[in-house]
Amino acid sequence: MPSLPVQTTFSLRHYNTLGIDATARAYLSVTSISQLQQLIAEPALAKLPRLVLGGGSNLVLTQDFDGLVLHMCNLGMQKVGEDDDTVYVRAAAGENWHGFVRWTLAQGFAGLENLSLIPGNVGAAPIQNIGAYGVEMQERFHSLTAFDFNTGNVLTLDRTACAFAYRDSVFKHALRDRVVVLDVTFALPKHSQPVLAYADVAHELHTLGIKVPTANDVSAAVIAIRTRKLPDPAVIGNAGSFFKNPIVTAMQRDALFAQHPQLVSYPQPDGRFKLAAGWLIDQCGWKGKNLGPAGMYEKQALVLVNRGGATGQDIVRLSQAVQDDVMHRFGVNLEPEPIFI
Ligand SMILES: Cc1cc2nc3c(=O)[nH]c(=O)nc-3n(C[C@H](O)[C@H](O)[C@H](O)COP(=O)(O)OP(=O)(O)OC[C@H]3O[C@@H](n4cnc5c(N)ncnc54)[C@H](O)[C@@H]3O)c2cc1C
Repeated sequence: MPSLPVQTTFSLRHYNTLGIDATARAYLSVTSISQLQQLIAEPALAKLPRLVLGGGSNLVLTQDFDGLVLHMCNLGMQKVGEDDDTVYVRAAAGENWHGFVRWTLAQGFAGLENLSLIPGNVGAAPIQNIGAYGVEMQERFHSLTAFDFNTGNVLTLDRTACAFAYRDSVFKHALRDRVVVLDVTFALPKHSQPVLAYADVAHELHTLGIKVPTANDVSAAVIAIRTRKLPDPAVIGNAGSFFKNPIVTAMQRDALFAQHPQLVSYPQPDGRFKLAAGWLIDQCGWKGKNLGPAGMYEKQALVLVNRGGATGQDIVRLSQAVQDDVMHRFGVNLEPEPIFI
């Protein structure tokens, strides 16, 4: 068997959307399960710390990575079944997420349109249960397969096993660093109604004069909104929304509301409230403000940007300063959304 094509002292600068210039001790582009099986059988490689990498759009590389980066590059998309109500489609972990969404729409399968233009790859979508414009990935998820580094087995996990929650899943907890997602299967409803719960989407469609939108119309509206609101990582380094929207008790929300009648909050099914993290950050004066070569984006206070040459430590410093200010002013803890490595 040929040895694995591992590269050493590998720059990750073009492999993370924040554009942080960190170096990995070793790097492997993974295109098959057999490579992963070979990897765990080679003691010199198996003992290295591992970082599974997709599109690098939800990572903060705080320093060089003294281990092996496994870049998931396996490809493939197909319809794998259907019944009266549902079409089942599967995509390999290395497929670009938006490319996959477009492919489903081109096949005439609705359901993922609200998640258009989210950067990154299919394999990472379940890790934080990506969500946007009123839809979370878990609502369209059927199952996934994953390679277990501990046993060398391939596991199949259904929705319950993945323990999805807001920007969360089992892969951030019990299965963190233990498995790599190989492919994901989605269950797309054949008779779905467009999800227009978000005012921005409804407004965009209204502006375009579309009264009965198709899935393609919703996708186009979401793409237009996102393109206006969010910086393109190819132009200005960023990782999208940098903090999760904090969830607080009704009592805490009421106390804050009494002091800040403009507070932006959304009731949750469990009686708690989700606060708009961007509003809290904006109120602390961080919108458009820099700390060294990193800053908070001028059009959207929730997005942390690399103004040029920011190191992982610059990002950590700014993130901490924003968290401290929001805690000081509102008594609310902001939790970063990207994974810090
Ligand atoms: C401009 C912009 C906008 C964004 N908008 C949104 C949004 O609207 N909603 C949203 O939810 N997110 C959003 N994000 C965040 C990001 O796009 C998603 O979290 C995306 O799913 C990350 O995919 P990735 O392939 O880049 O993952 P990476 O950044 O490469 O990895 C993220 C995490 O997943 C792990 N991982 C990656 N692939 C695998 C795999 N195959 N198996 C196991 N673990 C894996 C990594 O180890 C890491 O812990 C945005 C980011 C940007 C830059």
